[in-house]
Amino acid sequence: MKIIAFTGAGISAESGIPTFRGKDGLWKKFRAEELATPEAFFRDPKLVWEWYDWRRQLIAKAEPNEGHKILAKMEEEFPDFYVITQNVDGLHQRAGSKKVIELHGNIWKVRCVECGHETYDYRAPLPEIPPKCEKCGGLLRPGVVWFGESLPLDALEEAFRLSREADVFVVIGTSGVVYPAAQLPYEAKEHGAEVIEVNPDETPISRIADKIYREKASTGLKKVYQYIKERYGSKG
Ligand code: NAD
Ligand code: ZN
Repeated sequence: MKIIAFTGAGISAESGIPTFRGKDGLWKKFRAEELATPEAFFRDPKLVWEWYDWRRQLIAKAEPNEGHKILAKMEEEFPDFYVITQNVDGLHQRAGSKKVIELHGNIWKVRCVECGHETYDYRAPLPEIPPKCEKCGGLLRPGVVWFGESLPLDALEEAFRLSREADVFVVIGTSGVVYPAAQLPYEAKEHGAEVIEVNPDETPISRIADKIYREKASTGLKKVYQYIKERYGSKG
């Protein structure tokens, strides 16, 4: 039995990392188009890097929460279990998840806009803003997917394939409005998966959900875990 956990910013909210569109969402204070687009970056790399450096510091101080931990435990228990995430914070991996597909990149990755050299840099704050490439001295950009950019093809293809094969598809903490990622629950549903939503608020995905937990990721996922064990047996 294949189980997919599809996560968004909401799963990291209890770790103190602001979501984008929730009540305390980042877009309330900043304008996305000023910060998370290639145009913004090339207009003012320093401003965009300052924002990312601030977010990197926030994430460095944060710890994975109970929600991340339950998903890591489920991966140990069920042989065919995957996390597909829109998050860039790496908290799933820090909680112990190994089979994680990152659709929108990773905030610790940096990539040279001149020579394409890509590496991880975990320093927060960065010593120099904007940071420069160690190979060619070119400008580095964050290794995340911005508005208007396409998603990494291998990750996207794998995510679609896994979603079609899923028996249970759990959607946690995503507003379901950022495409193509938001397509995945529909893809899973169409191919026969039971869709479960964990989110304190209603989303477009609520309409196709077979089961809904209107609560935070930590408490909601505890119940999802119980439910899957009871319904499908502990080995899935
Ligand atoms: P979003 O901000 O659009 O939506 C967050 C969702 O989480 C909302 O539906 C909200 O109701 C729900 N939520 C809030 N608190 C919750 C909790 N405690 N438990 C469960 N759900 C909760 O986020 P999105 O759908 O992931 O899409 C936005 C984009 O933002 C993604 O592309 C992602 O890359 C990026 N992002 C990532 C991070 C991160 O890595 N932590 C943070 C902010 C934004
Ligand atoms: Zn370079």
